[in-house]
Amino acid sequence: MKVIEKYNDSLHNPYWKYQLGPETYEVKDTPLRVESIKKALRSDERFDFQVAKQFPERFIARLHPYHDYIRNTGLSLHNDDEEFYPDLFPGEGANLTKKVDSPLWGGIWCTDAVTPIMRKTYEVARASAETALTGAELLREGQEKTVYALCRPSGHHAGPRVFGGYCYFNNAATAAEYLLPEGRVAVVDIDYHHGNGTQEFFNEIKSVFTASIHCDPSNEYPYFWGYADEKGTGQAVGTNHNEPLPKDTSLEQYSAAVDRIIEKIRAFNPAYLIIAAGFDTHIDDPIGGFQLLTEDYISIGQQFKSLEIPTLVCQEGGYNVDNLGNCVKNFLLGLM
Ligand SMILES: [Zn+2]
Repeated sequence: MKVIEKYNDSLHNPYWKYQLGPETYEVKDTPLRVESIKKALRSDERFDFQVAKQFPERFIARLHPYHDYIRNTGLSLHNDDEEFYPDLFPGEGANLTKKVDSPLWGGIWCTDAVTPIMRKTYEVARASAETALTGAELLREGQEKTVYALCRPSGHHAGPRVFGGYCYFNNAATAAEYLLPEGRVAVVDIDYHHGNGTQEFFNEIKSVFTASIHCDPSNEYPYFWGYADEKGTGQAVGTNHNEPLPKDTSLEQYSAAVDRIIEKIRAFNPAYLIIAAGFDTHIDDPIGGFQLLTEDYISIGQQFKSLEIPTLVCQEGGYNVDNLGNCVKNFLLGLM
């Protein structure tokens, strides 16, 4: 199986000063996550690493109206360690056509103060999206049946209006948009947190089926999205499916939710499947609250394999660096 790795190193490594406080350095989304995954996959010759290509900026720009804001704000910073947060978050009812004259007004484009902009954020987030695009291109050319894109930062909380939740550009949505001229696409999000950005991108687009299995948002991030009654709007009603599950969900319950989604994907009959794969569903994840074990990911991968659809896996969350690599490896082995 092809593994697409990013072409640049990870200089986006915030310490999340607003979320964690100035003295706290227990950052969960660290570059060590990528190292954990690479170590597990490099030890197995069934995985074949390939460096991501660069794509024209328009592939990212057309989906993300805030891409200039992220780039220009980064360029205005003076060193690689600096973290920038907007200080104004105009809510609904504000005049959103007003030009954003100051980086401080950037709350118009982001949901929270846990997604800082750093000098290299644009570059690193763009490379993450290009990792997914490279994988999508291999599928489109018919060279590969299953490709894994080792994306970081994650993308599934970044939407068509706002970025947030550690995510800047939506890697899976960018890949879906790229594949769409070739046929219908299904995007399934298996991160512990609902894929709100991905859902919003395709909420009114009937040629993309989106689904997410996640912890019930009534007591988990992202709180305002991810409920079972969100089914798409307008002509796309019926093309979104959410499976909010309770805390402490274990494999049996989880697999039943995967089966329900697989049935819906079969009925939708897409040309491509994209899996936004987070592993913060693991029992030992420091952020998540599900009970999945490292070996459980093999059978979850096998469930998706039964669809026999060309599949791109985009890395999302998963924060236990001791077992993340093996969780990813098991999932991919199940898909093989
Ligand atoms: Zn997550």
